[in-house]
Amino acid sequence: MRLERKKALITAAGQGIGRATALRFAAEGAQVVATDINPASLEALSSTPGITTLTLDVLDPAAINELAEKVGAIDILFNCAGFVASGSLLDGTDADWELSLSLNVMAMVRMTRAFLPAMLDQGGGSIINMASVASSLKGVPNRCAYGTSKAAVLGLTKSIASDYIGRGIRCNAICPGTVDSPSLRQRIDEQALQQGRPRDDVYADFIARQPQGRLGTPEEIAALATYLAADESAYTTGTAQIIDGGWLV
Ligand code: NAD
Repeated sequence: MRLERKKALITAAGQGIGRATALRFAAEGAQVVATDINPASLEALSSTPGITTLTLDVLDPAAINELAEKVGAIDILFNCAGFVASGSLLDGTDADWELSLSLNVMAMVRMTRAFLPAMLDQGGGSIINMASVASSLKGVPNRCAYGTSKAAVLGLTKSIASDYIGRGIRCNAICPGTVDSPSLRQRIDEQALQQGRPRDDVYADFIARQPQGRLGTPEEIAALATYLAADESAYTTGTAQIIDGGWLV
């Protein structure tokens, strides 16, 4: 097992990529603290051996600090929480921008600031930040606030990697293409409604932009997170790991 004797904490573990990663980390022998704002979504995980569930709103700085006190030192921090705001520059409201930057960037800053000191004290750890191909890697139509926030995640990742490289800390970002998750399904339904188009047509648009002709699965992203969490990736830090079914080819 690749994560034996490691303690991991994951945000947004209630569904999608975070959930698949919690299950994979536990299957690889890690002790996993799976957190999410939605306690109901964590219920199904709570009976899995190796997984402890805790409610956490990553927008709540006091709750983050309390959690860090309670959980103590961890070996792996997976900052997975994020939100997709749709729209171009002229469509996006200040509220969209504020939520995108708070949830996708500032929450990651606060989480890392809260958990890093204990990681440093124990001599190291792996931090994994959820970015996206929609970032500084690729301009995606109607993802202006989202792409800007995920570009910031790449800058944050490289800065952390650089500042703590001599102290056993690795920090890498995962940049997926389109992954079949509950929120993607929800976005497809919303777009179909807004555009007055059949749901299957909107779904086909998402498939069409992926050159492999399919969406990624949360389990495929969890496999990459497992590699970045494990000691086998010891020589990998400050990277933006693209996992996009060839979207950027
Ligand atoms: P999702 O969007 O389906 O689920 C998100 C989870 O986040 C939910 O369980 C929700 O309860 C939780 N959450 C929402 N607000 C929260 C908060 N304030 N505090 C804590 N938890 C909160 O999951 P997903 O689509 O797998 O996305 C996970 C991450 O992957 C996000 O950062 C997203 O931007 C990124 N990503 C997703 C895709 C994709 O196509 N699905 C592609 C690239 C990147």
